[in-house]
Amino acid sequence: MSRLLAPFFVHNGPKHYAKYFHWHSRHTSKEPHTSCFGPDHFTWLKYEQWASVREAMKSHGGTMKVKAAIVTEANGPWRTEVIEIDEPHAHEVKVKMAFSGLCYSDEHLRHGDIAQAPEVMEMLSGRKSVFPVIGGHEGSGIVESVGPEVTGLQPGDHVAVSFVPSCGKCEYCLSGRSYICDMGATILAGPMIADGTWRHHLGEENLNRMCQVGSMSEYIVVHEASLIRIEPWLDLRAAALISCGLSTGYGSAVNRGDVKPGDTVAVIGCGGVGSGAIQGAAHAGARAVIAIDTNQSKVDRALKIGATHGCASTLDAAFTILPELTWGKNCDVVIITVDNLTSELFEQARSITAKGGTIVLTSLASWDLTHLDINVMLLAMMNQEIRGTVFGSENPRIQVPKLLRLHHEGKFYIDELVTREYTIDQVQQAADDLASGENLRGVVRF
Ligand SMILES: [Zn+2]
Ligand SMILES: [Zn+2]
Repeated sequence: MSRLLAPFFVHNGPKHYAKYFHWHSRHTSKEPHTSCFGPDHFTWLKYEQWASVREAMKSHGGTMKVKAAIVTEANGPWRTEVIEIDEPHAHEVKVKMAFSGLCYSDEHLRHGDIAQAPEVMEMLSGRKSVFPVIGGHEGSGIVESVGPEVTGLQPGDHVAVSFVPSCGKCEYCLSGRSYICDMGATILAGPMIADGTWRHHLGEENLNRMCQVGSMSEYIVVHEASLIRIEPWLDLRAAALISCGLSTGYGSAVNRGDVKPGDTVAVIGCGGVGSGAIQGAAHAGARAVIAIDTNQSKVDRALKIGATHGCASTLDAAFTILPELTWGKNCDVVIITVDNLTSELFEQARSITAKGGTIVLTSLASWDLTHLDINVMLLAMMNQEIRGTVFGSENPRIQVPKLLRLHHEGKFYIDELVTREYTIDQVQQAADDLASGENLRGVVRF
């Protein structure tokens, strides 16, 4: 196995590696094929075959024109374009979007940080780059239409999107860990989960969608596994924000961090994800929640939603807050939710973790970051634990309705975190405001 494929193999397991290798060999074969492999919903068409299907659909009026925010190259700007989307195929659903949140992961996508190696991308999708791609992976809307064989949703249903699909059939879903569903192997690639083709097009070009969602579009077509049905009286804007960052943060404290009543918790990075972690820690009964962020306005906001202490850096916490607060014991749980993890920050986080404590790593980092500064001796002798998490290690179909209900009852802060709403034409402005620290959470309202 090549060095480039190694991370993919390790991440997704031999089963997926074999599956995609199999698909790739078919995809690039000269022989026509129509058969499928694996579960019935994994039927893949060759790209050339898809082109003829698309032409046929056009002649039946099967496409619609909508506005979407896309990126066409790494570090390129967000561009709002009129694109074409097709009708949903089997297991797919068309959603009229109501809101899409803008999360720092979208910027990671734009800057190419989370783009897989060209060889891996080609194996997954038949082309070398994730670009052009529709941005957005948190959002909400109302089901417009459903394709054949969709059983769990119907037109008119209110839904939140989920950047982690949950199929309900794989080993991970069946063992209660749908946040690491096998379908997640496709989320950084782009073609539709159901058949490996595309429903979204800009002229003659097929568009990938961030995390199998691409929520920054007036309408989206997604696999039903990427949707969470919610009750119609619940707030759709809140649903959009809960569908990624806030859920991830909340679960990072409650599930992965396993915060217990009386614990001392530090949250490093107080944007959207950190705001979920702070509230999760408070709900779990933490005695103290220390909000750490270089942006004072984020610390101030954190103090209004459950943080008991705030400061500008981990070293500040180490020298000015923790000695007196914990008598030198430090934090039972440290949750890292910064935009972009650096090696130095990781050891700082470890250094404010108590004996027997847990460091929860929620932040994304560049694919290039393969080494972390860790005092290995102290990690071992202090009996500390490092835990990675995706979606806060909670089932999206449990977490999203649960937090929405808490919000509905006034027990979970969301509206306080929305700093500005944007139109679909203003996505680059929203990204600039996020980068400058002006925005805690920006939301596109459709
Ligand atoms: Zn996100
Ligand atoms: Zn699954």
